[in-house]
Amino acid sequence: MRAINPTTEELIAEFPDHTNDEVVERLNAAREGFERWRHTPIVERARHFRLLAEELRRGISHLSRRMTDEMGKPIAQARAEVEKCAWACEYFADHAGTLLEARHIETEASDSYVTYEPLGVVLAIMPWNFPLWQVFRFAAPAMMAGNVALLKHASSTPGCARDIVELFDAAGFPPGTFQHLFISNRKTEELIRHSDVAALTLTGSTRAGRQVASIAGESLKKCVLELGGSDPFVVLADCDLERTVEKAVQGRFQNNGQSCIAAKRFIVEEAIYDAFIARFKSAIEALKVGDPHDEAIDVGPMARKDLRDELHKQVKRSLRQGARCLVGGEPLDRPGYFYAPTLLVDVTPEMPAFAEETFGPVAAVVRARDTDEAIGLANTSNFGLGASIWTSRSRGHNLVGRLRAGFVAVNEIVKSDPRLPFGGIKDSGFGRELAAEGIHEFTNIKTIYVA
Ligand code: NDP
Repeated sequence: MRAINPTTEELIAEFPDHTNDEVVERLNAAREGFERWRHTPIVERARHFRLLAEELRRGISHLSRRMTDEMGKPIAQARAEVEKCAWACEYFADHAGTLLEARHIETEASDSYVTYEPLGVVLAIMPWNFPLWQVFRFAAPAMMAGNVALLKHASSTPGCARDIVELFDAAGFPPGTFQHLFISNRKTEELIRHSDVAALTLTGSTRAGRQVASIAGESLKKCVLELGGSDPFVVLADCDLERTVEKAVQGRFQNNGQSCIAAKRFIVEEAIYDAFIARFKSAIEALKVGDPHDEAIDVGPMARKDLRDELHKQVKRSLRQGARCLVGGEPLDRPGYFYAPTLLVDVTPEMPAFAEETFGPVAAVVRARDTDEAIGLANTSNFGLGASIWTSRSRGHNLVGRLRAGFVAVNEIVKSDPRLPFGGIKDSGFGRELAAEGIHEFTNIKTIYVA
C-alpha cells in the first residue's frame, strides 16, 4: 500500500501487505472477539464508543492532517469529518439500546416478539473520499449491535486505516473487535467467501459493488452497498436564488467534488436559467484552489492521478458531444492532481457529464422547460442515491414523491446524519446505513413465538 500526497505527488509512506498467516491470525482473533463482544452488555459497548469519541476529538489535529495529506481534502473539512465521527459514536452509544430493544407484536400467541442479534464478523470495504467517516458510519451501529469489524480500507489511505485502529485500541476495545487488513482486492474477494466472515459492506464504485455483491451472492452473505451517485439538484423558478447558488457551490465542490452525494446534475427551470448561470459562474470563478492545508483554500487536488485523468476524459467527451465549458475544463498546470473547478452548460442526458458519475469538481447544467421536464430529467439516471429540489417549502413537499432516490432534500444539500437512514436505489446500491434501519442491517431479526 502506498500513500501518495496528491498535492505534491510525493510518496508519504509505504506499507507491506499482510501475509496469509497474518490474515488468518486476524480472522481467528475476530471470530474469538465476536464470541466475547456479542455477550458484552450494551452499556459496556457504549462506554467504549464514548471513549472512542473522546479519542477522536483528542486526535483531531493529527487525524485531519493525515486525511489532507493522503487524499487532499481541505483541512477545515477534515476537522469537520473527525467531529462527525465522534458524533456518530456518541449517537449510537446513546441510542443503540433503544433501537435494538425487543419489539412485541400482538398475535394469538401468549407472547410473540422480535429481537435483534448480531451476525458476527463483518468485512468493511471502504473508500478514500471520507476515509474516517465512511468507516465510523458503518462501525458505530454495526458494533453497537454486537458485531465485530474487519476493515479493508482503500489502498491510497493506509495511514488513515492505521490511525483508526489505533483509536479503537486507545479506547480500550477488546482484542479482535476492530482490526484492519492491508490486502489486495483479490485477497479481499477470497475473504468474502471465508466461512468466518458473516456479512460485508462496501462503499465505493458501482463496478466494485457488482464484483463484491456477486461473490456475496454466491456465498449467500448479507451485504450492504453504498455506491456511486449522480444526484440531481433541481432549481425551480420560485427558489431563493442567492441561497440556492451558495448551496449549489457547496454541494458540488466540497471535498474537491469527490462525494457520492455531491450535487452533480444541475437541472434548472427555463424561467430562472440565465440568472442562475450568471451567479453560479461567478461563484465558481471565485473558488480558491490550492494547497488543502491552507485554511483559506476552497478546493484542493483530486485524490489520485487516474481519477483526475478519468474526469478529464468525461469532460472532453461531453464537450465533443456539444456541451459548452464556461469555467475551467482542464487539469491545472502545477504539481499535484488539481483539476480546475468546471462549469459545463448545454449538457444533455446522452453525455458522460450527465449519464456517468463525475467524481470531481465539475458541475453539469441542463436546461428544463418547466417543472415536469425538470423532474423527468432528474429521474433520467441509472443512479438513485440522493436528490435535492430548490423551491418553496410547500411545492417541495408536493414534489418529493416524484423524485426517485434514497434521500430527497428540499432546500438543503443531501448530507448524511446518524439519526436518518442513508442509502440508495438502482446502481447506487442497496441496504441502508445509520439510524434504526442501519443498525438493523447486520442483525438477525429473530422472531420469537411462545404458544
Ligand atoms: P473503488 O470502488 O475501486 O474502491 C472502493 C473500495 O473498494 C476500495 O477499498 C477498493 O480497494 C475496494 N475494491 C475495489 N474493487 C474491489 C474488489 N473487486 N474486491 C474487493 N475490494 C475492492 O473506487 P475507486 O477508488 O477506484 O474510485 C473509482 C470511482 O468510484 C470514483 O470515481 C467514484 O465514481 C466511485 N467512488 C464512490 C465512492 C462513494 O462514496 N460511493 C467512494 C469512492 C469512489 P483498493 O483501493 O485497494 O482498490
